[in-house]
Amino acid sequence: MARAQPLQCPFCENYLIAPVDIRTKTIELTGGICKCRAVYVLDRTGHNLGEIFMDALTFVCKGDIDKALALNPEDYEFVECKYDLHANTLGSRSKGKICNLLFIRLKIQDV
Ligand SMILES: [Zn+2]
Repeated sequence: MARAQPLQCPFCENYLIAPVDIRTKTIELTGGICKCRAVYVLDRTGHNLGEIFMDALTFVCKGDIDKALALNPEDYEFVECKYDLHANTLGSRSKGKICNLLFIRLKIQDV
């Protein structure tokens, strides 16, 4: 069983702050950005991953929906984690509310 661990980027192991509400013209989500340019998006409901996946792709494209839609699966990598909203830890053993946290990082360079 996975022990609770601090919120960390799965790509670069940087420690991350708790997801915050982010609202722009094209995106409305709860998440954040790592220094390695990975983004993370919180799925509060725990069963809506398809929807937040598109939000996360748009987020990682800096709000550019057209660019997000044009991405191929080989253009990015993603990791899905269990996340405890109250403790700000990864892992599924805590007693708090467990959400999904989706990390996405582009493999391709920005043009
Ligand atoms: Zn990172």
